[in-house]
Order: sequence, then C-alpha cells, then structure tokens
Amino acid sequence: QDIETFRKNAKEMVDFMCDYYKTVGDHSTLSRVQPGYLAPLLPKKAPEDPESFESILADVQQHIIPGVTHWQSPNFFAFFPSNNSFPSLLGDMLSGMINCIGFNWMTSPACTELEMIAMDWLAKLVGLPDAYLNTSGVGGGVIQMSASDASVVAMIAARQRKLRQVKTEMEAQGKGDEFNEQDVIKRMVFYGSDEAHSCHKKGAMVLKLNFKTVAADDSYAVKGATLKKAIETDVAAGLLPTFFVGTIGSTSTGATDHLSEIGPVCRDTGVWLHVDAAWAGSAFVCPEHRELMRGMVDETTGEVYVDSYDFNPHKWLLVNFDCSAMWLKERADLVDALSIMPAYLRNKASASGSVIDYRDWQVPLGRRFRSLKLWFVMRSFGAKGLREHITKCVNLTRYFETLVTADDRFELIVPRTLALACFRIKPSVLSAHPGLDVNAVNKQIADGVNESSNFLITASEVKGKPEVADPATGKVAMVYFLRVTIGGWSEEENVRGVWDVIRGQADKVLAELR
Ligand code: PLP
Repeated sequence: QDIETFRKNAKEMVDFMCDYYKTVGDHSTLSRVQPGYLAPLLPKKAPEDPESFESILADVQQHIIPGVTHWQSPNFFAFFPSNNSFPSLLGDMLSGMINCIGFNWMTSPACTELEMIAMDWLAKLVGLPDAYLNTSGVGGGVIQMSASDASVVAMIAARQRKLRQVKTEMEAQGKGDEFNEQDVIKRMVFYGSDEAHSCHKKGAMVLKLNFKTVAADDSYAVKGATLKKAIETDVAAGLLPTFFVGTIGSTSTGATDHLSEIGPVCRDTGVWLHVDAAWAGSAFVCPEHRELMRGMVDETTGEVYVDSYDFNPHKWLLVNFDCSAMWLKERADLVDALSIMPAYLRNKASASGSVIDYRDWQVPLGRRFRSLKLWFVMRSFGAKGLREHITKCVNLTRYFETLVTADDRFELIVPRTLALACFRIKPSVLSAHPGLDVNAVNKQIADGVNESSNFLITASEVKGKPEVADPATGKVAMVYFLRVTIGGWSEEENVRGVWDVIRGQADKVLAELR
C-alpha cells in the first residue's frame, strides 16, 4: 500500500463523485436492470494479480452505476428521503480513515466522547427534554445503525425493567424464590399500532416476545383509550403489559399517535413508551413543527413520559446512512441487560464507572465512529442551515399539494404531514365505469410513473374510513394511494416535473377507459 498512490486515487474518486452528483438527475432514478444482471458481467472469482484503480473505477461506471437506484437524485420522491450531504460524506471519510472499533471508551476515547457531545447537541437542536442528555448521567443518547436496531434495544430495556420490577415485588411479598425469568417474559405483552413500522413486530420476533397490534383510529393514529383498553384486558387475563411503540410520522401516511393521551396511560400502567419518529424527527430542528411532539412531556409538571425516543438523521437531516439517533430517559436497565465483561474487555476506565461504554447500549460489540459525520453536518450547516433545509422541503411539498388539489380528479387521502403528500384519483372520477376498481387505476398510474419516467414515487395502502364500508358486508375496503415525499436535493422544477408525469399518466389511464 502506497500513500502517494492513495492521494492520487482519492482525488480521482472525489472527481468521480462530483461528476456523479452533477448528473444524477439525468438518469432514471429507478435502476432498470433485471435480477441477476451483474454476475455475467464480472469474473467468476477474485483476481490473482492486483488490478489498477482505473480499471476498478471503469467497472463501477459501466456495471455498478446502472444497477443503482439513485436515492440522491433530485427526482427521488419514494419511501422516505435518505439524503446525505457533502459535509457528511467528508465526516464519514474521516471515520473510514480512523477506522477504530469504538466499543468501549478506551478503544478510542474521542469516539465515545464525541458521540456523547454530538447526541447532546442534537437533543437540544430538536427540542428534546434535558432528561435525555448524556450530561444528565441518568439518561443519554447513542447512535444506532437503524430505527429497527433502536426498537430492539428499547424492547430489551423494557423487558429488563419489567423483570426487575416483578422481581422486586415478589421479593417484597416474600416470594423471591418463585421468581422465574422465563415465566415472567412469557406473560409480557409488547404493543404497537397496526400503522407502526413493521420493524417493531420484527424486533419482537427476533426477541421471541409477544407482540400485539392496537388498532389505529380513522386518522391512522392510536388513541390513549384504545391502548388503555388493550392493557386492561391483558392485565385481567394475568398478562404483563410491558412496552408500547408510538409513532410520530408513520411510514404510510405520516400519522402521529395521540401521545398526550398515551403518555399517562403508559406511566400509570408501568408500560415502557418508545417513540419512533424515524423520518419526521428531523423536522423538529424547526420549532414550528414541534407540535407533533406534544405529549412526550407533561406540559404542566415537566414529567417525561417517553422512556426512549429515536429518529434517523440519515433520513432527513443530511447525514448519510447509517445514523439513527436514540435517547433513553434512564440508561440503567439497558446497560444492565447488555453488559457482559469477559477478561479481555476489562480495563481501568470501565472499572472506574466514570465512562460510557457504548457496547452496552447496542447488540453488536463493534461500532463505527458515526458521530463524526453528524458533528460535521451540525457544524457545517449550523442550526440555521438545517432549519432552512427542512423548511425548503416542507414548502416544496406545500407547492406539490397545491398542484394536486388544483386538479379536481385528485384528492389528498389525509392532510399533508411535513414533506409527505398522500393522494389518489377520486373514486367519483370513475363513476361512469361501475365495477371499475379505483385502487387498480391508482396502481396503474403509480406503476406508469415509475416505469416510464426518470422519477420515482411509492404507493401504499391503508384501511378506508368506516363510512366507505360495504353496506352489505360491513367490510372496509383498502385504499390504495400514491405518496410523494420530498428531500433535500429536489428543487421546484423536479416537483413540477413529477406532478406533470403523474398527471400525464392519469390522462393516459383515464383516456384508455373511454
Ligand atoms: N420507523 C419508521 C416510522 C419508518 O418510516 C422506517 C423506515 O422508513 C423505519 C422505522 C425503519 O427504519 P430503519 O431502516 O432505520 O430501521
């Protein structure tokens, strides 16, 4: 390995990256390759002799880029944005350079300490309570790989807390000898809305925990009373309600559970409240959007109801994947559940109890120096720049909303949330075609956009409102709809462009019906 060759190649790589970003909007956002496209294009085994950087980069251009779906394209309106930024890329290069495996403090003190500081900065930036700060010594923030990981970790902490509580109660009743961890875990119940992200159910599957779905209301949000009823029913059946995951900004429609009702229910029943704001959480750099967080904290007493909270700066805060920011109100149960100290990990700093060992806050041992990119982003944009970024995305979505509502063939299926618009062709547009499935027509439009243009959008499905239930069967039909969510790279012309394509597809599909 030769440093001067690296210096030269790295400069070429940066040129390659800059050229990519300059032209990424010119390509189809969705990769058009077919499954299995790559194997016939590459050798069957690794080369015996070293190959040049130039030949590898040529293959990247020729074979890899065609198989890339361009999440950083200004024409990407699908799923949720996962935007990076140049400061973030630079921070991540540095992380690659240092390449420490920062599982405990002594493996790279800066890796732990910068994460503690960056997470405290971020907590303040998005208006979270002081109880979550690392400086509190009780709560604290940690960077996980994904919201899914944060959910698993939150469930582990909730399970540990419930075990501790049950054990203490049994000991107080003189029944300590009867305490059996597995029996208690079997009685635990973990809840989430039917609109919560599937990662929570998956987390419970991984941990072999009993996960129950709580029905969302007509606005796709869970009410406190619904959760309370589910908890009471389970308590009456001898079960142990343990955990509820609430969502701010659900994946399908951007719905937010009724947190001000849910917080007191969870507190009064000893249920751990985890809040997943994976996408929407970035918006809280702007105080005007913090209305969505209402209910996390009791406004009169200041009591924090949410035991753990997570959002993904790697979605909408210009930090490249992976960076999922998680905070806990009390770190003790998590550390207690995940702490294990074989001889080779023992060290003076850990033994002193004066440092955080982040390996005890996550499932894997090893961890990357992820706070660097977050720190670079917060410093390079400043709070002001991050607010401008969110405001721009929200304003562009407002603009998109005006385009949708100005076309009387379309309707929003729920009010816009931040930078997410959910809409469809109205059923009434098809009134001349009785029996025609409005969902199929909307699907045809969504597929048409993605197959025929450079733009990428997603579609989803939710339960229809009760008033559209079939009078004969009482069954509520599913509503299929189109979603456009706007991230940091898009400009007005891209938004106008995707709308023109959607409208054009609608013209085409409706004309074919005539
Ligand atoms: N939670 C919500 C609300 C999401 O929208 C998503 C992904 O879009 C996730 C969780 C999963 O995120 P991750 O990929 O970070 O696990």
